[in-house]
This record gives sequence, structure tokens and C-alpha cells, in this order.
Amino acid sequence: MNENSFYTNYDVPLDLQFKTADILRMGGLDCTAQLSRSYFEDIFAAPNKITQVSITVSFSVAANEILARGKITGKRLVQCARCLNMAEQDFAEDFLETYSNKLEIIDIMLLVRQTLALTEDIRFLCKPDCKGLCPQCGQDLNEGPCRCKPVNLSPFAALKGKFK
Ligand SMILES: [Zn+2]
Ligand SMILES: [Zn+2]
Repeated sequence: MNENSFYTNYDVPLDLQFKTADILRMGGLDCTAQLSRSYFEDIFAAPNKITQVSITVSFSVAANEILARGKITGKRLVQCARCLNMAEQDFAEDFLETYSNKLEIIDIMLLVRQTLALTEDIRFLCKPDCKGLCPQCGQDLNEGPCRCKPVNLSPFAALKGKFK
């Protein structure tokens, strides 16, 4: 990509509020920025959290509208649904929205936050065959078997075999 045609260093506002007049004056805007994760820390349910987030956004000017098309990429720490360990995961998500060019400010923060929120994976597994925790002693069975005897939780288990 030609660096000269790409406003990589346009000072992207951290709160993602772009002045519509700037975008119209430049006839569109392409920019990319690493964002402060402080704006996104509360999106996922704890202990899951975003650790790094970058945005690439391209504004194009149409007759009465400005089209914002972009991609959010980053890293997050996500808790495994089985063993409860935290694992790092990359994410990437596209977004697309149109705004009236009569707005003074084009604020894409809400769009970015909503897009990120939709990527949360509550059934995330640290690996496809994660063995999880022993329900009795809590040992992480990925690290090896524990000494617990398997228990049969059914109250009828003790009667099994008596009535045949
Ligand atoms: Zn796991
Ligand atoms: Zn155990």
C-alpha cells in the first residue's frame, strides 16, 4: 500500500469521534490506529478482557452520507469454559456503517464497542480437547489425573444390580 495515500498518522481521536468537516474536506479518510484499551475494558464479562485493540477505518464520501468501513483487530484474554485458565486469543472483526454528512461529529465508538461485544466467545476452550477440572478436588486434569475415585452421582446407583 502506498503510504502517501494512506493517512496512517492522521491523529485518530482516541474516543473515535471524527469531525465530519475534516472527512468532507479531504474527500474521505483512511486511517489506522492502536487504541487505548481503557475504552474497551468493560465490554466482556470478567475475567475476560481485551488486552490490545487496533482499528483500521476508511471513510468514503457519498452524496448525502459518509460510509465507514473498517476492521478491528487485537488480542484478548479469555477464560476456558472447562479448566478456567486464561488463554490469549487473537480477534478480528469487520464493521460497516453509514452516517449522515449533516452530523457535526461522526462517532464510531458505539459501533466499535458493539462490534467487539458480539465477538465474545463464552464457550471458549483453551484447546479443543481440554480435559477441564476434576469436579471433586478441582485439579486441572490437563496437568495429569488426580487421585479421586469416580463417584456415581445417581441416588439409584447403590440399588443397581439388586433388582434383576
Ligand atoms: Zn481449558
Ligand atoms: Zn479429583
